[in-house]
Amino acid sequence: MTETRYDQGITEAEAARNGQAGFGWIDAHIHLDHYDEAKCESMLAEAYAAGCEGVVGVSQNMASCLTIRTIAQRHNGRVVPAYGFHPEQPVPDEADIALLLDWIRARHAEGERFAIGEVGLPYFTRTNAEKAGQPFDESGHLLLLDRFAALAAELDRPIALHVIHEDGNKVCDLLERHGVRRAHFHYFKGDRATIERMIAKGYYVSITPDVLYDEQSRELVRLYPIELMMTETDGPWPFEGPFQGVETTPMLASAAVREIAVLKGLDVREAAAALAGTAKRVYGFAAGTR
Ligand SMILES: [Zn+2]
Repeated sequence: MTETRYDQGITEAEAARNGQAGFGWIDAHIHLDHYDEAKCESMLAEAYAAGCEGVVGVSQNMASCLTIRTIAQRHNGRVVPAYGFHPEQPVPDEADIALLLDWIRARHAEGERFAIGEVGLPYFTRTNAEKAGQPFDESGHLLLLDRFAALAAELDRPIALHVIHEDGNKVCDLLERHGVRRAHFHYFKGDRATIERMIAKGYYVSITPDVLYDEQSRELVRLYPIELMMTETDGPWPFEGPFQGVETTPMLASAAVREIAVLKGLDVREAAAALAGTAKRVYGFAAGTR
């Protein structure tokens, strides 16, 4: 760890871009296959140089799983892949689901380090359909998530979840039913009762750079124990406020670390160590663990 001091005279976004973190951090949720290959390599190199200790690369379908696996092999120990099917898409047919689940089981049989994800419920698809006055049948998505949760429990893998607002309770029910041990609600926003239920179950959340300007995110940080908290970017998802017009890379997660430290009243290095420690425990960044 370097002793570089953060220059208070520059903005969080500039500090993140300039690599002046001065502490280690992990981006616990990013879509690496949504960047072109050269960009992915250069941004990871830049992030590592600035103190990023690793990223969790989530997948959205079978093709994405293959790409993420290749990237993870190139960055062994620093990119932990997550294999799944993003819920904001139509549910695939049974043959494709079986293919994906079998492929994930084969990765397990080979002893690879990986997580299940990104999986969850189609909050935006459902609410957009409902707003347009169209019926939306969620049962296929619920069944698919049920199978991924069962797989995470069976293989004892962490699960990276796309779960928004009122979907939180449904997903807690499902995780409890299967006894999933490591559940990570990425970019979660929800009501207080659901948040308290998640804390009681020991489920994990990750905080994005929007914690600098989004009150819901700030409130989640105040309520949630730092031992169950990680940082993420969901890159290339764009952020607002000080990040307007700034390309999202793992660098931006370091700005979230700083803000969490402020909100929790902790020294930034203490907060950084706790946040990165959670990600390492959940996703097993150390070589040879899973
Ligand atoms: Zn995502």
